[in-house]
Parts: sequence; structure tokens; C-alpha cells
Amino acid sequence: MATEGLAAVWTGPGRKFELRRYPVLPPRPGEVLLRMVRSGICGTDVHIHAGRLSLPGNRFILGHEFVGRVEALGRGSRRDGLGSPLRPGDIVIACVAKPCGKCFNCRRGETASCLRFGVTYLRDPDRAPHFFGGFAEWLHSPAGNLVRVPDGLAIDAVAAFPCAGPTAIRAFDFAGNLQRGEVVVVQGTGPLGLFAVAWAAKAGCAVAAIGSGRQPGRLELARRLGARLVFDFRKTEPGARLKAVRGLAARLRRGDGADVVLEASGAPQAVPEGLGLVRTRGRYIVPGQYSSSGPVEIQPQTITFKAVRIVGSGQYKLADAGAYLRFLASDRRLQKIFADCITHRYPVARVGEAMEATESGGAVKVVLDGGNG
Ligand SMILES: [Zn+2]
Ligand SMILES: [Zn+2]
Repeated sequence: MATEGLAAVWTGPGRKFELRRYPVLPPRPGEVLLRMVRSGICGTDVHIHAGRLSLPGNRFILGHEFVGRVEALGRGSRRDGLGSPLRPGDIVIACVAKPCGKCFNCRRGETASCLRFGVTYLRDPDRAPHFFGGFAEWLHSPAGNLVRVPDGLAIDAVAAFPCAGPTAIRAFDFAGNLQRGEVVVVQGTGPLGLFAVAWAAKAGCAVAAIGSGRQPGRLELARRLGARLVFDFRKTEPGARLKAVRGLAARLRRGDGADVVLEASGAPQAVPEGLGLVRTRGRYIVPGQYSSSGPVEIQPQTITFKAVRIVGSGQYKLADAGAYLRFLASDRRLQKIFADCITHRYPVARVGEAMEATESGGAVKVVLDGGNG
């Protein structure tokens, strides 16, 4: 075992990450020591760093998309959070959410909507065992927060959407899941949007994606993942997009718009258009508004007259991470495309550049790469 490892310590919004070396300690009871294989940068990290999402302090190791290799198991940590046995050498995803298990929602099994959520990573890294968050070469995680990756899955495919994937899966589930033949519009072609396109296309839906051409690779990826219609929102007018979606629905003998619209852009301005694109009695799913980015004007009578169901969703539960891995395991071609979604990779020491690449919108998915794959 290495005696020391590197961590990128976040020191507050807009401030430079501090690179620090900490001793690598054996796992405590109930915990697992993981060596980093890939660690994704999420839009949430960008929101935190920009000060749009506040944290209870200014000194943490950020990062909650950790794919790691089991180095050592603490006492009483022989199984992951879904009950699979763990052994040294196994690849796992480490989830960070700690639902309380006792509140009204947890008691009903709705742990994704816990009223007293905790997270595993927001702790002072100067305190042992130091490696609490994702932007580091090591991680100490409770065994119950791990989901074992089935053997043979491409690691880059797993690392592409370990947060966006389960988030989209939970949101679709809340909205009553997809039926074959439905028309689905996905607003946004970041990780959440691209995963949603793949999930809906695989479910047999006719998918349209609205994304930004700032990173042209995203629109191309949306197409490869199964979108029939792809719009660059800078180059097309909302009226033309509405007409095209209604045209698609008409050709498929559906209703007066999309059966399902999923908001994955994070831009408040996308919401009025989304309400316009959804058909009468359709579902508008909104899991993408992950920061306080200001108000937007909507016409509430649209909700009434179209009898729209608006479904929010902000977290996922551990079982959704399991569903994400099963989805990947079912399709080798998809694994290849997911792996291609990783456009930028950096060592932990270059976390600043990794954050800039994510912020710029010029990347599809940015990861810290620890090798070890
Ligand atoms: Zn995330
Ligand atoms: Zn709870």
C-alpha cells in the first residue's frame, strides 16, 4: 500500500484548489479503502465552485463520481450497499448520499427524497483518514455506499455517467417510466441529457435532443445514442423546434406534442419551452435545475389547459446506481459510445484545468484519471 497520496482540496468558491499529500491509512470498521481509477467532474462541482450552491464550510475534497478499485476492507465491510460481496481488486462506484433512514420519506423507502440527507464527503481533510472526497488518489468510503461494478464492464463507460445516469433513471421512474413508441424530448446534451437520450432510445422511444453546438461532439453523441432529431438551440428557433416535434408526434400518430420532455440543460430559460413541447396529458420531468440560477416567467395556464404532469427529481437511490450498471452491461455498443463521452482526462494535480474544461462547456465529460484501470 502506498504510504501517501495526493488530494485536491477545495478552499472556497473561485479559489485555487490546494494540492496536499496525506498518509494513506487502513480502512476503519465498516469502511473500504479505494484506489482512484476515474473520478468525474460533475456540473454540481462547477456550481459549488462558482458559489451557486453553498456548502457548510470552505475546506473539502469535492467530487462524488468516484470509480475505484478496492484496496482493503475494514472490519464488517464484506458487502456493498446492494448486498454483493466485495473483494480486494473489485471495481466499485462510491455514492456519497447518506439518507437518514428515519424521516417520513425514508420510512416509505423514498431514500432519494430524504428530509435529512447527509453526505460522506463534506469533512475536513486534515482529519484522519483524510480521503473523504472524489478529487483524490484514494477514498475511504462506507461499504454501504458502494456499488460493485460487474466484471467485464468497460471502466470508461462506467465513469462517464455514474451520477447523471442514476439521476436520470430515478427521474424517469418518478414520472411513471417510458412506454415503447413514446415521443421523448431531452433538453440539454450534457451528461444528464446524453444519458437520458440513451435510456429513452433503448426503451424504444422516438427521441429528440436539444443541445448546444458549442461542443459539436455533444450533438453527434446524441445522434449516436439514438436521437432521431437533434437541434442546436443556438441555430434553431423555438417555433421551428416545436413544429418539428409536433410533426414527429403526428407521423407516429401520437398526441399534440412530446409524451415526455426531460429538462437536462440546467437553464431556467429552458422551462417555458419544455412546457410548450409537452403534449396534452404529457409529463414534464425536471431533474436538471441543480443550482439557484434565477427566476423565469411561465404561463401557468399551460399546466391547466394541457393537464400536464410536472415531475421533479433531485437525487437517486443506491438501487438506481445498480440499474445504471445493468443498463450498461446489457449493451456493448453503448459502452463504447459512453466511453467516447469522456473527452478530457487529467491527473489529480491538474484539477484546476479539469474544472475549467468542465465550466467552459467545451468538453462532454471530464474525469480525473488515476490509471489503475
Ligand atoms: Zn453529480
Ligand atoms: Zn431520511
